[in-house]
Amino acid sequence: MKITQVVCQILRIKNVQAKTASSQDSVLVRVRTDTGLEGIGEADSSPEVVKAIVDAPFSHNIACGLREILVGENPLEHERLWQKMYRRTMYFGRTGVAITAMAAIDMALWDLKGKHFGEPIHRLLGGAHHKRIKAYASILFGRDGRETRDIGHRWIDAGYRAVKFGWEPMGPDEAVDIDLVRGAREGLGGDATLLIDAGCVWDARTALRRANRFAEYDIGWLEEPLREDDVAGYVWLRDRSPVPIAAGEGECGRESFRPLIDRHALDVYQVDLSRCGFTDAAFIRSRVEEIGARLCNHCYTSPVTAAASLHWLATCRDAFLFEDCVEDSPLRHELTIEKVQARDGYIEVPDGPGLGVALNEDFVRSTLIAESS
Ligand SMILES: [Mg+2]
Repeated sequence: MKITQVVCQILRIKNVQAKTASSQDSVLVRVRTDTGLEGIGEADSSPEVVKAIVDAPFSHNIACGLREILVGENPLEHERLWQKMYRRTMYFGRTGVAITAMAAIDMALWDLKGKHFGEPIHRLLGGAHHKRIKAYASILFGRDGRETRDIGHRWIDAGYRAVKFGWEPMGPDEAVDIDLVRGAREGLGGDATLLIDAGCVWDARTALRRANRFAEYDIGWLEEPLREDDVAGYVWLRDRSPVPIAAGEGECGRESFRPLIDRHALDVYQVDLSRCGFTDAAFIRSRVEEIGARLCNHCYTSPVTAAASLHWLATCRDAFLFEDCVEDSPLRHELTIEKVQARDGYIEVPDGPGLGVALNEDFVRSTLIAESS
């Protein structure tokens, strides 16, 4: 089997709003082969930038677009191809969006591998420990405590036993922040799991003060209280916080996670398959399990990445929660034929070959705004 074509497609919904939610557009990578099989991958980044990294022509031996690197290769050789892409993009890559583009390719290679062998990706990764996983509804805060409480009610009524609220307006004002968390707890009632995602807003000392105040509302974790690069701050905070500290969603690949893991900076490492791919996510899983910390997925995009996240998370021995984005965006709900969403608070791990989901091509056409020529 040889790769014959690598196509990028950018999808975007009509009414994009100014909010911190990456489910308003998507960049798909479709890797096609001489056997007629196609693998699908997705990156969570700026779609146009990812597309440029795939489409770029040969500039020199270590500055080369990903298509140029991949056409003619055997798609089953995912580890060698990861290393080849890493080396041949060194002048613009190694971190950030180049790794994210590689992650989309890697996701597509594993989808192809699964289709080729007729097996779900979780089996090819070593086997699933879980057939279904408790899901938390992942959503943004309301404008204040009262609105946040009502949002909490809505998702408890929908059957979730865990809900996460995130981002604005949390941050600058302690009274506002406590009102938000109090409202969230009221909305969920006493028993459900409440998770708080601050959105990278504080220094470590302020974050510790908030963690102490939030602890009385029994939060399951405090997510991204600090800037993503403040590794020393995370180490300091985790040693002192009364609540678990979660982060990692912005990290792109194994090298990006390395300082956090080496320094035991977190309680929960959140891995986004659309920024790491399966190859590096499997590596990160092994390293985090080795240090006795917990793993969760991060996913705020489409059912393609949600399916990928489930295949990977099912192979994590101690998986305890799945991030189930419940944003009201058609991209989250209509991009695949299969609905990849929790029912009664739990989500099933897909079991078909590869990712186990197929694109809804009518929906792709209706939202397509750019495609590789
Ligand atoms: Mg987050």
